[in-house]
Amino acid sequence: MTSVDTTEFRALLEEERTRIIDAIEYLASENPGNMQDELGELGGRGTDNHLGDMASVTFDRELDEGLEEGAQQTLAQIDRALAKLDDGTYGICERCGKPIAAERLRARPWATLCIDDQRLADRG
Ligand SMILES: [Zn+2]
Repeated sequence: MTSVDTTEFRALLEEERTRIIDAIEYLASENPGNMQDELGELGGRGTDNHLGDMASVTFDRELDEGLEEGAQQTLAQIDRALAKLDDGTYGICERCGKPIAAERLRARPWATLCIDDQRLADRG
């Protein structure tokens, strides 16, 4: 079994999961079509469809796609952490098998690596 308080982390994970799903739904509703639709819409409103609009749409889209990608990744990690809570391996580093520090789990409840192995993984 794990040495961490799983009730606390399950609550943290479920709260974060709800927040991320809301964010993903918000992003999806903000951008229902592709960029061509969006540009067509701008022109259709009869506004001056100059370069400034084009740049702004491109920028917004890149930002949103980055956010959505990040949110999807975090959601997958949260689901994985919840599965670990169920099978009793939550809070154990996937690489070295040692417990992950509780303060690290409070900051990132979905962490699957201890801080040392995360640094190694980030380095590549
Ligand atoms: Zn480790």
